[in-house]
Parts: sequence; C-alpha cells; structure tokens
Amino acid sequence: MSKKLKSGSLCKLGKCDIKDHWKELVEITQKSCFLCTKCARSANDKKRLCKPAAI
Ligand SMILES: [Zn+2]
Repeated sequence: MSKKLKSGSLCKLGKCDIKDHWKELVEITQKSCFLCTKCARSANDKKRLCKPAAI
C-alpha cells in the first residue's frame, strides 16, 4: 500500500501518517531548506509547511 502525501500536509500529519509515508518523508526532510516556525517541522519545499522559514 503506497498512499501519496498531499502537498502542504506535513504540518498536519498524525503519528499514523508518519509511519505510512516514511520513505516519502525521508525524501522531503533529509535535504530540508525550510523550517516551520509554528510546528518545528522541516522540508525541502516550503509548500509542505504552514509557516515556513528558510534555513
Ligand atoms: Zn507548520
């Protein structure tokens, strides 16, 4: 089963989602250029975060 993450959904992920989308999350976060100033999540695409800041 391989569900695709919706864009802009990283900040809204629950614990179950993290396990379901593990490989995709690794790709999104391992070369992070942005950090969410509200949720402390990181991503390589600012569209994945609700309050992105470049790092
Ligand atoms: Zn956020």
